[in-house]
Amino acid sequence: MQLSCRTSYYCDVCELEFNRESELVVHEDAHVVCELEGCTYVSCKEIMEEHILLVHASGLYARMARGSSKEEVEKWQSERKK
Ligand SMILES: [Zn+2]
Ligand SMILES: [Zn+2]
Repeated sequence: MQLSCRTSYYCDVCELEFNRESELVVHEDAHVVCELEGCTYVSCKEIMEEHILLVHASGLYARMARGSSKEEVEKWQSERKK
């Protein structure tokens, strides 16, 4: 009997797929915690740099922490892109 689903190992945070469990384990070992402004975001280094720029350097995190609605945040983000 064969297993119907193919075996893959997936990191949800980084959206990366690995063929072996050992590769995923090594990858997850390299994850770092953000910790800026009390943030608990976890990901690998490359994605963390992006996260810090997008969420912290832009002031988005402070904005979300103050409880702005999703619509407000999106509006504000699109305005910043100009
Ligand atoms: Zn990852
Ligand atoms: Zn963060």
